Amino acid sequence: SFTYAQESRYSFEQGMMGSPFKLVFYAKNDSVANIAAQSAFKRIEKLNELLSDYRDGSEINMLSAQSGSGKWVPVSDDLFNILAISQDISVKTDGAFDATLGPVVQMWRHATRKGIFPKESEIKEAMAKTGYTKMKLDPKSKKVFLSQKGMRLDIGGLGKGFAAEEAVKVLQTFGIKSIMMDAGGKIVLTSPPPGTEGWNITISNGSDSLKTMALSNVALATSGPTYRFMEYNGTRYSHIVDPKTGIGLLFHVRTTVISLDGTVADALATAFSVAGIAKSKKIIARFPDSKVWLVERQDERVAEWNTLE
Ligand code: ADP
Ligand code: MG
Ligand code: MG
Repeated sequence: SFTYAQESRYSFEQGMMGSPFKLVFYAKNDSVANIAAQSAFKRIEKLNELLSDYRDGSEINMLSAQSGSGKWVPVSDDLFNILAISQDISVKTDGAFDATLGPVVQMWRHATRKGIFPKESEIKEAMAKTGYTKMKLDPKSKKVFLSQKGMRLDIGGLGKGFAAEEAVKVLQTFGIKSIMMDAGGKIVLTSPPPGTEGWNITISNGSDSLKTMALSNVALATSGPTYRFMEYNGTRYSHIVDPKTGIGLLFHVRTTVISLDGTVADALATAFSVAGIAKSKKIIARFPDSKVWLVERQDERVAEWNTLE
């Protein structure tokens, strides 16, 4: 009989988009592994150049700068694709996910740095420049129209999931089949490691409960206030904003979503956090390929919803 060379496990880690990105995969030799990993990280860096809201010259910020000009602006395929997914998720989540929250997110970042709670008028003013229906997309020409001056796009709610998907595509062009790409808690998995049933992934609900599953060919995203939140007078506000109020979530929510696509999983984890359990139960009917584990905590009250197997 004929035996193929054994594949070895490789792992790489790099800080990207403000989070640790971890990459594990199986490949035939060191040189393939190193080139593939470098190419994947390069792809993410390229995406970050286009999509970062921290860089003035990023494509997304230059697009936002043209809001209210009355112009349809041509954009790259990458930017168009991520905005198209974003818009689709906004519609299907009744606006719980909204990539036009930039002005509000910026206002909160500024307020957090200064330690001053924004005035009601400031929140109102920022909110007036948001709303996903003010963004129009033309798939034929790959052009974007932002109807109101002062709009600012922010794809932070699904950018890492998108980056993870794109990195996996790059690795696959090198013939690599078993991949785990963890982009700051937004994970994309392909075939199981050789000789196993799947990738062993452990999910936590934020405190006591843990769940370990052998998963493959799915994506999984967790959203939670573990690292990033703002605190005013002892009250914690999540960096996830409720698009209806313009204020960070007060609930201590932790949401894990499993979907077939990493971008969708990331966006849904954010959206379900906003929508809460009752509304999310209706929303998930529009996403038959997705499962969720959502924990809401406020003071003594804990509510939990789990459709993971
Ligand atoms: P993480 O920071 O772990 O990636 P999320 O995927 O939930 O967590 O993304 C949070 C980011 O998404 C925020 O920092 C902000 O940029 C943006 N955001 C906040 N609220 C919303 C919302 N309701 N819909 C879409 N994006 C949001
Ligand atoms: Mg983020
Ligand atoms: Mg998200």
